[in-house]
Amino acid sequence: MSRYWSSLTHGLTPYVPGEQPRMTELVKLNTNENPIGPSPRALEAIRNEATDALRLYPDPQANALRAALARYHQVRPEQVFVGNGSDEVLAHAFAALLKHDAPLLFPDITYSFYPVYCRLFGIAYEAVPLDEKMHIRIADYQRPAGALIVPNPNAPTGIALSRAEIATLLAQHPDAPVVIDEAYVDFGAETAIPLVASHPNLLVVQTMSKSRALAGLRIGYAIGDADLIEALNRVKDSFNSYPLGRPVQAGAIASLEDEGYFQQARARVIEGRGRLNRGLVRLGFDVLPSSANFVFARHPAHAGAALAAALRQRAVIVRHFSAPRIADYLRITVGSDGQIDRLLSALSEILGSKP
Ligand code: PMP
Repeated sequence: MSRYWSSLTHGLTPYVPGEQPRMTELVKLNTNENPIGPSPRALEAIRNEATDALRLYPDPQANALRAALARYHQVRPEQVFVGNGSDEVLAHAFAALLKHDAPLLFPDITYSFYPVYCRLFGIAYEAVPLDEKMHIRIADYQRPAGALIVPNPNAPTGIALSRAEIATLLAQHPDAPVVIDEAYVDFGAETAIPLVASHPNLLVVQTMSKSRALAGLRIGYAIGDADLIEALNRVKDSFNSYPLGRPVQAGAIASLEDEGYFQQARARVIEGRGRLNRGLVRLGFDVLPSSANFVFARHPAHAGAALAAALRQRAVIVRHFSAPRIADYLRITVGSDGQIDRLLSALSEILGSKP
């Protein structure tokens, strides 16, 4: 074992399916996937692309999809950028827009990818602490900044800012690029897209992974002033990262055209969040007010890591973060009714109380 890669794999204990039979019925509530599933019209559009046409390259500019997104969000197509999931869009935004002499600002509890991108692209940053209620306090962002990135709702807290608060943030930084990461916005927060028209420094990033239940298809997009979009295109074209595939573009367009399904699916997740919330409160948890498709909750008498491990033994997977300020918390995706029931009964078994 002298090869350089052995240190990477040495010590790993791989998952052995046969040893934990209950694991075959995994309740997966750790990555905020949508339990309801994609629009049937999106699935049909994807299937319809599985023809001989797959010989041909897709439209590199994704013109039809960008036009559909522009119609949906009432902007011009040149104000729309699409990528393979919002993670790719964010990576391009970090490279294209967020590196300056003054630091990039983002909340200290936030999407853990941001510091990773900063290290990757050599971007100096300052993480601004949340207030004592885990809220983002806009006044704390009134400090020199090269650029800002703020998720709304924030992750993993699920707490949202109002559009008026985002407008204040923009007024504080009229000359710095401001990226609002709206991965979870459709579950109860206000989108900042209406502010794009009056703020050439605002880029709003959204995804079809969560509210449209298309995480496996990989579609993210950004909406902003045409100059910001042009900057993203320059970086994208320098990476030779290829556009979305034909089935992906077709599925995304069909999902946008199925507004009725989208609204229903959103409402069901919001309803499920209410059930999950009430169940956790009955078990003694403190639950932060979530506008996302997950909740962030802690039990005053039980450590987060221990609870996550005990749930895992019962084949329920939730997310636990080791950062000291949030180590007591669990981030739990709003699953189906059946999954919520399984989670709550596993927790009540662990805590020794009734669900
Ligand atoms: N932003 C935030 C805040 C997220 O939590 C996630 C999902 N992990 C993403 C962006 C990326 O999602 P996707 O790449 O699936 O669009």
